[in-house]
Amino acid sequence: MSETLGLDPVLLEILACPSPDHAPVLPDPERGLLVCTVCGRGFPVRDGIPVMLLDEAIPPDGD
Ligand SMILES: [Zn+2]
Repeated sequence: MSETLGLDPVLLEILACPSPDHAPVLPDPERGLLVCTVCGRGFPVRDGIPVMLLDEAIPPDGD
Protein backbone atom coordinates (compact mmCIF):
# COMPACT_ATOMS: atom_id res chain seq x y z
CA MET A 1 0.00 0.00 0.00
CA SER A 2 1.47 3.33 -0.99
CA GLU A 3 1.43 6.52 1.00
CA THR A 4 -1.50 7.77 -1.06
CA LEU A 5 -3.39 4.46 -0.94
CA GLY A 6 -2.86 4.19 -4.69
CA LEU A 7 -4.80 7.38 -5.30
CA ASP A 8 -3.77 10.22 -7.55
CA PRO A 9 -2.35 13.03 -5.37
CA VAL A 10 -4.36 15.53 -7.39
CA LEU A 11 -7.53 13.61 -6.55
CA LEU A 12 -6.54 13.54 -2.90
CA GLU A 13 -6.26 17.32 -2.88
CA ILE A 14 -9.78 17.85 -4.15
CA LEU A 15 -11.46 15.26 -1.96
CA ALA A 16 -13.35 16.64 1.02
CA CYS A 17 -15.17 15.15 3.95
CA PRO A 18 -18.91 14.78 3.20
CA SER A 19 -19.86 15.96 6.68
CA PRO A 20 -20.67 19.66 7.24
CA ASP A 21 -17.02 20.47 7.92
CA HIS A 22 -16.09 19.72 4.27
CA ALA A 23 -12.52 19.47 5.50
CA PRO A 24 -9.58 17.97 3.59
CA VAL A 25 -8.83 14.31 4.10
CA LEU A 26 -5.42 12.72 4.57
CA PRO A 27 -4.44 9.16 3.68
CA ASP A 28 -3.74 6.79 6.56
CA PRO A 29 -1.77 3.95 4.93
CA GLU A 30 -1.76 1.84 8.10
CA ARG A 31 -5.55 1.73 8.23
CA GLY A 32 -6.14 2.03 4.49
CA LEU A 33 -8.44 4.97 5.07
CA LEU A 34 -8.78 8.60 4.14
CA VAL A 35 -9.14 10.45 7.43
CA CYS A 36 -10.87 13.81 7.82
CA THR A 37 -8.59 16.45 9.31
CA VAL A 38 -11.45 17.96 11.34
CA CYS A 39 -13.94 15.30 12.44
CA GLY A 40 -11.57 12.33 12.26
CA ARG A 41 -13.94 10.05 10.34
CA GLY A 42 -12.21 7.48 8.17
CA PHE A 43 -13.35 6.77 4.61
CA PRO A 44 -12.49 3.46 2.96
CA VAL A 45 -10.89 3.10 -0.45
CA ARG A 46 -12.40 0.26 -2.45
CA ASP A 47 -10.78 -0.93 -5.67
CA GLY A 48 -8.89 2.35 -5.83
CA ILE A 49 -12.03 4.44 -5.43
CA PRO A 50 -12.54 6.58 -2.32
CA VAL A 51 -15.92 5.99 -0.73
CA MET A 52 -16.78 9.46 0.57
CA LEU A 53 -20.12 8.59 2.16
CA LEU A 54 -21.13 9.28 5.75
CA ASP A 55 -22.99 5.97 5.78
CA GLU A 56 -19.71 4.17 5.06
CA ALA A 57 -17.50 6.30 7.31
CA ILE A 58 -15.60 4.75 10.18
CA PRO A 59 -16.01 6.81 13.37
CA PRO A 60 -12.90 8.37 14.89
CA ASP A 61 -11.05 6.50 17.61
CA GLY A 62 -11.87 7.29 21.19
CA ASP A 63 -15.08 9.01 22.13
ZN1 LIG B 1 -15.08 15.62 8.56
